Amino acid sequence: MRINIAIDGPSASGKSTIAKRLAEILEYTHIDTGSMYRATAYKALESKISLEDEPALIEMLQNTEFDFTHEGQLIMDGKLIGNEVRNPACDRGSSLVSRLQSVRAMLVSIQQKITLKKGFILDGRDIGTVVLPNAELKIFQVAFLLERAKRRYEEFQLKGSPLTFDEVYEDLRARDIADSTRIYSPLKKADDAIELDTSFLSVDETVNRILKLYQKTVERLNQHD
Ligand code: C5P
Repeated sequence: MRINIAIDGPSASGKSTIAKRLAEILEYTHIDTGSMYRATAYKALESKISLEDEPALIEMLQNTEFDFTHEGQLIMDGKLIGNEVRNPACDRGSSLVSRLQSVRAMLVSIQQKITLKKGFILDGRDIGTVVLPNAELKIFQVAFLLERAKRRYEEFQLKGSPLTFDEVYEDLRARDIADSTRIYSPLKKADDAIELDTSFLSVDETVNRILKLYQKTVERLNQHD
């Protein structure tokens, strides 16, 4: 039996790392929905479109083609999207464009279309509440801000970023506030999501906890068949 899994949570809580591992183990397709908001901000920045100009962004998205590889990696206008959208400008830019309802509606509709079949793991902010309200397993992955800032800082350092720890911390704090207080689809735990605090858990421990929840979910669903 295949199901769909929703993983939501704040920035740098490790959702994508965990989702990727789970997808490999379960042979599911992982879609990192944040990459779509990041790619939107990236294209707008490249095209000199203001990240707050909703009509211009919509026009840009109407002329943008999103696709996914078999493994779920994002392709925008025929180009594989990778590290070019993982930088402070796209961090802030994605948070800005994600506040706009019409931008969200366009991206959510693409996400819902590709997950009509089962066997997907989506990570984001609104997966359990808006994109896949009927997902069979919903995880709300959290970690202390300090721990998330440490993880993100290490990631940036490996890439040779000049950002200080305090800058990374402050950026995450600001995004937490922006993502959880915006009007449309704020970051929020779905009522039926299971909260998992990974502050003191390794990647393997987190993956194993979710795998157990996955097995329980599949057993429960099989019993009802
Ligand atoms: O997860 P990631 O940090 O890559 O997401 C980048 C930004 O995109 C987030 O700060 C958030 O504002 C937005 N986002 C969203 N809804 C999602 C995924 C990401 O609003 N489902």
